[in-house]
Amino acid sequence: MSPTSRLPGFHKLSFSERVKVVKEFAGLSDEDVEILTKTGSLSIEIAERMIENVIGTLELPLGIATNFLINGKDYLIPMAIEEPSVVAAASNGARMCREGGGLHAMASEQLMIAQVQLTKVTNPYVAAYKILEKKEEIIDIANSVDPILVKLGGGIKDVEVKVIESPLGPMVITHLIVDVKDAMGANAVNTMAEKVAPYIEKWTGGKVYLRIVSNLADRRIVRVWTRVPKEAVGGKDVAEGIVYAWAFAAADPYRAATHNKGIMNGIIAVALATGQDTRALEAGAHAYAARRGRYEPLSRWELDENGDLIGYLEMPIAVGIVGGATRTNPIARVSLKILGVKTAKELAEVMGAVGLAQNLAALRALASEGIQRGHMKLHARQIAISVGAVGDEVDIVVNEMLKEGVIRYDKAKEILERIRGRRSK
Ligand code: NAD
Repeated sequence: MSPTSRLPGFHKLSFSERVKVVKEFAGLSDEDVEILTKTGSLSIEIAERMIENVIGTLELPLGIATNFLINGKDYLIPMAIEEPSVVAAASNGARMCREGGGLHAMASEQLMIAQVQLTKVTNPYVAAYKILEKKEEIIDIANSVDPILVKLGGGIKDVEVKVIESPLGPMVITHLIVDVKDAMGANAVNTMAEKVAPYIEKWTGGKVYLRIVSNLADRRIVRVWTRVPKEAVGGKDVAEGIVYAWAFAAADPYRAATHNKGIMNGIIAVALATGQDTRALEAGAHAYAARRGRYEPLSRWELDENGDLIGYLEMPIAVGIVGGATRTNPIARVSLKILGVKTAKELAEVMGAVGLAQNLAALRALASEGIQRGHMKLHARQIAISVGAVGDEVDIVVNEMLKEGVIRYDKAKEILERIRGRRSK
């Protein structure tokens, strides 16, 4: 009989008891368990305070992207990512931007939106009126739950109400617009929405279901621009190729998705390094990319009168330097220290700049020699390691695969067996 995943009380077990259950369920070896339970900077004790049912921690390489000049200031950028070439490409993109004076980034106010969904009202527009009438009261109620934020100059700044047509009829949606200062803010605004909801029911006679942050953080926008001399990207032809690459993305969502994925390579790597909610960033970015009813690139590239490149990026970036995992994960704390950012706004500006530089590097490679040349060496290394090459075997397998122009698992295995066979003779 196969073992059951129905495990009442699993969460109440100790760490080692949980590991034992999983070991039995999945038939793990002692070696597997050793790998699972070995930790780095993030101890099990801290991990257990972060999420439930912990059986280990996961490490990723943490790299530093160099060359970033943002708003006239130099930054070293910590990036946590499993994908080869991203850190190198970011550094390379930043170097090209640097030649034209660096990246210029500006974030808006740090405003988040919480939504309160009111249903089952017979006159939705009258209900909306009744809510708006109580705006000052809503502001007082919401601010009362977060005196710390209010003291820092944050808190709820505005209330907006709209009637939407849904498959289940009209709904009245209240938006609480909250300045969350240096926090990502989801918890902060959710608490406010929950506090306000019963009052909205009382004033309108309707029924509130959802009270939750919106990840379409379109009041928390970062804008970045850069000028890149055409010589920095390899001349007029490559510069034109980059503009053509952008135009392709602007006209075709299949390409736009990959264009934006390249931007998110940089943004998510910094987000992971600094303990951000990466899903919130992704959701916000892609919803914003589709805000005009069609999925579009988050950046644009054009030429100026000299034929130099002008890049522009605009997207929501909701991040924090307090709250969430930014302080609990020790590596996130150190990453923030390396960045030296003083506010969430500055962190968002840096992340936007990384996104644009990353985008430039990818487009430059695509518009010239192609992405694979740079990728392949690192990719070959990963393959060599994954088939079990160790020590100097790794370089031998990589070089052999590159020489033969075949970078595949079966080939790596074959080469490894060959060199081991040779050595054992
Ligand atoms: P938080 O509640 O941990 O911290 C925010 C609080 O810190 C503020 O309410 C304030 O009281 C206090 N604070 C102290 N100094 C501050 C300063 N300088 N600026 C601002 N606030 C300061 O976290 P949060 O940022 O409200 O929420 C982030 C977490 O919410 C993330 O872990 C995220 O994963 C999670 N979350 C996300 C979603 C979503 O995105 N849909 C939904 C629910 C929860």
